[in-house]
Amino acid sequence: MDDSQDKSATCIALCKLRPLLVLVVLAALSFSAFAETQLDDHLRAIIWPPYQEETVQLMREYLRIDTSNPPGNELAAAEFFHRLFDQAAIPNTIYPYAPGRANIYALIKGDGTLKPLILLNHMDVVQADPRSWRLPPFSGEVLNGEMYGRGAQDMKDEGLLQAMVMLIAARQHLPLKRDLIFLGTSDEEVNDTGSAWMLENHPETVRGAEYLITEGGTNLTVPGRGTVYEVGVGEKAPLWLRLTATGRGGHGSIPIADSAPDRLVKALARVVDWQPPIHLLPSVEQYFRAIARLEPEPRAAQFRDIRKSLQAPAFARSISRDEEYNFLLRDTVSLTVLHGGPQTNVIPDTAYAELDVRLLPGEDPKVFLGQLRSLLADDSIRITSANRFKPPNSSSTETILYRLIEQVVHQYNPQAIVAPALGGGYTESQLYRPLGITCYGFNTLEVTPEVDATEHAADERVPIEQLRRGVRVLYELVARAANQ
Ligand SMILES: [Zn+2]
Repeated sequence: MDDSQDKSATCIALCKLRPLLVLVVLAALSFSAFAETQLDDHLRAIIWPPYQEETVQLMREYLRIDTSNPPGNELAAAEFFHRLFDQAAIPNTIYPYAPGRANIYALIKGDGTLKPLILLNHMDVVQADPRSWRLPPFSGEVLNGEMYGRGAQDMKDEGLLQAMVMLIAARQHLPLKRDLIFLGTSDEEVNDTGSAWMLENHPETVRGAEYLITEGGTNLTVPGRGTVYEVGVGEKAPLWLRLTATGRGGHGSIPIADSAPDRLVKALARVVDWQPPIHLLPSVEQYFRAIARLEPEPRAAQFRDIRKSLQAPAFARSISRDEEYNFLLRDTVSLTVLHGGPQTNVIPDTAYAELDVRLLPGEDPKVFLGQLRSLLADDSIRITSANRFKPPNSSSTETILYRLIEQVVHQYNPQAIVAPALGGGYTESQLYRPLGITCYGFNTLEVTPEVDATEHAADERVPIEQLRRGVRVLYELVARAANQ
């Protein structure tokens, strides 16, 4: 068949169809514009003060439930959410999996056009010693506009806001193109048995989801510097190692040249002098670009194009000395445990050290161990793992949800910087990313470094005004994300 004939035939067909095509496109455009206006109308119609007041009241109730882990007792928290969801006629299920321990799952169905969005939060908190607190850690009491309680930063604040978003969505009949899922889990602070149990026994509850929002984001307001919204897009993974040297023991008065402690210390000296090579991840590059305007020149310009700047040895050296940034650029090694003999006059036959190694997303622990082994240059030193290694992973920022986060944050705080953040520690996102879910650590509360520092510490608290503001920002984000 002749090509030109074919083309002209296609053209005739298309020309005839053109008016129809135009109509279809116009209809689609006006439909999406209509859907957007409809969502805007929905958001405008909400009367916020009662919901904001309810958020504060429920936050107090939630903080009063003691879910210190160990032992956890998260079942009490699951029952608290269960009661709230039942009252709003939101289908929900408690999944008990051990005495006192449970996860809770709630679902508001969307029309199925888009894949589900999960709001994930852990209900357990770390322990609190009331003696070092200004107000009792399970009181939810308020002082100077701040509500005190273990979990007020990590992460009962976010969990409660996520629950409020579900309640408001149900009561206001939020139109949804995606299913909206709330998942409250147990035991994140210790062994993560809650999420692990859920994924093993009820993978259907999260299967096919596209997005997940959980902890791992922090928004610090520093006077004179403004507010930086750090959106957690990935985490480094802890690879804890024990290095053990063995040898001949003896009396301290008669030195042994190749004793276990001597060989261990010589090998460790090589480790502490070592910096693994720089490996710049795209999200880290984006982070530096985002925060560049907080820096004075010439650093601002260097941060804007960090990839190029790092090619200059002087800059690479200076940023490697900066604790705040160095860990973002490479795998890191911290020497944390040293153990030799129990007595000064005894040369022990065994000595060991432990290293807290953190690997960047995408790194292979076998490759790292190979590098370490050759650096130690002592085959008699045994390397064993001291934790259960979970491979590090990350999510791209090239998504609709990330764009919406930027958009909604700027709507409420036009000056804020939104930057993708690489976390130094573990979050549950690591378990959900391998299922193909884009996971972000995102929080809507803006806090000072002083309040932020109370996480896992005494006087953990949350500013009440931020709860009021935060519920609104999170609702708007979820409403928009659930419709596009
Ligand atoms: Zn947490």
